[in-house]
Amino acid sequence: MKVYHLPNRVSGLIFDMDGTLYTHHEYAEHQNVVLIRRLAALRGLSYEAMKGQIDEYRRAWAQAHGGENLSLGNTMAALGIPIDESIRWRSELINPEAFLAPDTGLRSTLSAMKDLAGLAVVTNNPIDIARRTLSTLGVLDLFSAIVGLDTFRVSKPHDKSFLKAAEDLQARPENCIAIGDRYDIDIALPLKLGMGGILVSGVEDLPQILTILQKL
Ligand SMILES: [Mg+2]
Repeated sequence: MKVYHLPNRVSGLIFDMDGTLYTHHEYAEHQNVVLIRRLAALRGLSYEAMKGQIDEYRRAWAQAHGGENLSLGNTMAALGIPIDESIRWRSELINPEAFLAPDTGLRSTLSAMKDLAGLAVVTNNPIDIARRTLSTLGVLDLFSAIVGLDTFRVSKPHDKSFLKAAEDLQARPENCIAIGDRYDIDIALPLKLGMGGILVSGVEDLPQILTILQKL
């Protein structure tokens, strides 16, 4: 875990979903595999050939952008898949219930956080997948705002998504903290918007963040 910046007063916590509110390698992998498999079928390529093209595009993009990472959503857009198509594929193919289960530890940590600040999720999945994921984890009712791929039809990192989450929480951006597992996608832009930012290794870091918040 790495704390980049903390506001003096916190009224909103803006979480990434995958790798942040749960840690599950197989589910994370499933999400990539089903999308790449669909794209491969559309292009008449093998899965391996399609994945090779995607990996190569991301590698070249990172090289041209000082080592920054590109989300799979933005990679698919660059490869000619319209964002509405990406939204449909994700809604249809991604299956959180097959991998995740209620997390009572997460629930107790988030409940305590909710006493201190409003909770939001900003995710590169559509809102229906985000709701199903939070519901499966047993924490949907704790969140006051969900901003998804279909909210503005843009993929993170995008300023609109983070600012909308703050607005929905009725919090000023400078009183929010973005919490996520990918610096380039979840943290860098919120820091530029004046928000706090905490990079996590996974859901197991959340109790430590609660301790930090309780001491502010
Ligand atoms: Mg993530």
